[in-house]
Amino acid sequence: MRTTDITDRIRPLSMYPYDDYNVVLKQTAHLHYAYRRTKTGIEIELSDYLGEAPLSVLNDECEAIVAWSRGKKFVQPQSLTDYIRTDDFIVSNRPKYLRRCRTVTMMQQGSSKNLIDSVERLMDSGLVFDTDITNSFFTWATHMAKYKFGQCNQTFRVVSVNPDLDSDSVPDAVVDYVIYHEILHLRQDPTKNHRPHNAQFRSWEHMFPDYDRIEEYLRGFYTGSHRR
Ligand SMILES: [Zn+2]
Repeated sequence: MRTTDITDRIRPLSMYPYDDYNVVLKQTAHLHYAYRRTKTGIEIELSDYLGEAPLSVLNDECEAIVAWSRGKKFVQPQSLTDYIRTDDFIVSNRPKYLRRCRTVTMMQQGSSKNLIDSVERLMDSGLVFDTDITNSFFTWATHMAKYKFGQCNQTFRVVSVNPDLDSDSVPDAVVDYVIYHEILHLRQDPTKNHRPHNAQFRSWEHMFPDYDRIEEYLRGFYTGSHRR
C-alpha cells in the first residue's frame, strides 16, 4: 500500500501524551482512518481520498483521532462530514473507489436488463425522486454473494446489482425492487448513526407494489422455488 507523508501540512496538534506524531495518506479501498502507536508517539493514517481536502478538515480529523487514541469516543468532525458529502468530493474520488473495489463492471446495460430502465420506471411510478439519486452511479456487479442482490456505498453513492438477476427469466419488477431498496440507502442520511434497516426504511420499502411477493421470489431465488 502506497503512503504519502503529509505531516508538514498539518498544523501542530495538541499531542499530549505523545512526543511526536506523523500523518500519512494511505491508499485504501474504503474511506477509513486509523492510528498506530510508535515508539515515541503516534502515526495517523488517513485515506488518500482525503488528499484534496482543505487543511482545516485534515486538522480537525487528526485532532479527533488523537482524542480517540487517548480513549475518548471517536467523533467525526462536522467539517469532515460536510466535506465528504460535497458533490466535488464524491465526483473526484468515485472513479478511484470504483477501480479499487474491483467487483463492479461499470456497465448499466447487462445482457438482458438495463439498470437505468429500472431507475426510470421507479421515478415514473413516483417511488423515487430526483433528490434520491442525485450524483449517484449504478452498475452491474461482477459477482455477489448468493442471496445478496444489491449493494450500496453511501459515501461514493454507488449502487451495484447482483448479475444473477440479469436474465430474461427474472421479472423486471424484481430488479426494480432490488434497486429501489439500494436507492433508499442513498436517501438515508449517511451521517446519522442509525441502523440501516430501521422502521423508517422498512416503511419506505413496503411502498413497493407486490413487496411480499417479490421478497418471497428473492428468498427462493437460488433454490428454484420461485419458478413454481
Ligand atoms: Zn439494505
